[in-house]
Amino acid sequence: MRSAGATGTGNNSTSAIATCDAATWSQGSPTAHQSQVDTVFNCPACNKQDSVTCEMDFQRKLGTVTCKNCKANFASEISAIAEPVDVYSDWIDACEEMHS
Ligand SMILES: [Zn+2]
Repeated sequence: MRSAGATGTGNNSTSAIATCDAATWSQGSPTAHQSQVDTVFNCPACNKQDSVTCEMDFQRKLGTVTCKNCKANFASEISAIAEPVDVYSDWIDACEEMHS
């Protein structure tokens, strides 16, 4: 009697692709629901980790990053497809320009 070695057959990886339709703002629902995405970053001013939050206002096309530790903040004009990291990277660039 011989027993065959069991081979793993767990070949069922699911890959979810999240699509974001953010092109239906001006028309449609009467209630202006906010779909802000808060993302935390490290502060370039006080170097505290995860203290910078970002608010994306796509209606005003304004992205704002604020450090809740040292209150440093930065605002940048954003496009319809901008992400919080874009505003944050703009802030980093602005900081580097000041120090250079
Ligand atoms: Zn800070």
